Amino acid sequence: MNGTILRTEQLQAFYVLDIFGTRKVIKAVNGVNLEIRENEVYGIAGESGCGKSTLLKALYGAIDPPLRLMGGKVYYRINGKDVDIFSLRPDEIKGLRWEYISYVPQGSMSVLNPVIKVKETYRDFLESHVRGKTKDEIFEIAKEHIRALGLPLTVLEAYPHQLSGGMRQRVTIALAALLKPRIIIADEPTTALDVVVQRGVIQLLKGIQENLGNTIILVTHDMGVQANVADRIGIMYAGQIVEEATAGEIFGNPLHPYTRYLINSLPRFGDKGMRESVPGSPPSLANPPSGCPFHPRCPYAYQICTERMPDFFEPVAYHKVACWLMGES
Ligand code: SF4
Repeated sequence: MNGTILRTEQLQAFYVLDIFGTRKVIKAVNGVNLEIRENEVYGIAGESGCGKSTLLKALYGAIDPPLRLMGGKVYYRINGKDVDIFSLRPDEIKGLRWEYISYVPQGSMSVLNPVIKVKETYRDFLESHVRGKTKDEIFEIAKEHIRALGLPLTVLEAYPHQLSGGMRQRVTIALAALLKPRIIIADEPTTALDVVVQRGVIQLLKGIQENLGNTIILVTHDMGVQANVADRIGIMYAGQIVEEATAGEIFGNPLHPYTRYLINSLPRFGDKGMRESVPGSPPSLANPPSGCPFHPRCPYAYQICTERMPDFFEPVAYHKVACWLMGES
């Protein structure tokens, strides 16, 4: 098994809002323990609003108001040592960005400047990270990188709005991989793309991971994408990871009732019947249910589910699930 490259301990990140003098706390990430390994694609899946994107921000060390770190740790494994990123100065965290860990946010336009050509974004980026190169040398690095990833060189001469959504997303992913980071975090990189384009984007991500031998943490609610690319998957519900296993185990032997609903809602080739969706609505993260947060929607809920959050049980090696059905303490 590969070593750990990033881990969290009881991570809590809440949005603290002041709405007309009333304090509102959104518990977006509420006690997450993760161990992400070197050279794997770790998928994080769950319905919209379950805290996936906020978890990524916290893993990236991007805790900006109104988001607040309420507790817990995030450690990066650097040169054989666990580095607590929230103990670093802002300039030290910034220094790790792109070279150690990079981020593909939702929506490529937040990375690509709409009023300059893609090659100028590359140039600005390289000038701030690679010292002692002339403009021509920097342009050659950008060209070589784009070529190596199988993208057309014409993208460098384009303004972002001249590229299709899929190509913009590929350019954004290419930029995230430019400095060969050990970890790439990707937040819903295929959202709003059609299926064929999605496949190209996922192939690009997977190809980068295989070439660099690095780690990708991929957030997507799309279980079909997770099935195609993730080595292990964490299922997130109401700010917590409720099940974690290899992709094969998650799809072949889902144990948490919520995971089963997510998988059963997937369309199947040739099956024209209605798929089963998760009953009810996702809970409010401002006022999550007591006990197991899934209990108001769970057909198997019983007394203890309403009272206590289940611990993780491990009924199969490396397959962890937080559900009382797997055993009581
Ligand atoms: Fe359902 Fe209870 Fe398991 Fe939660 S702990 S998923 S409510 S059976």
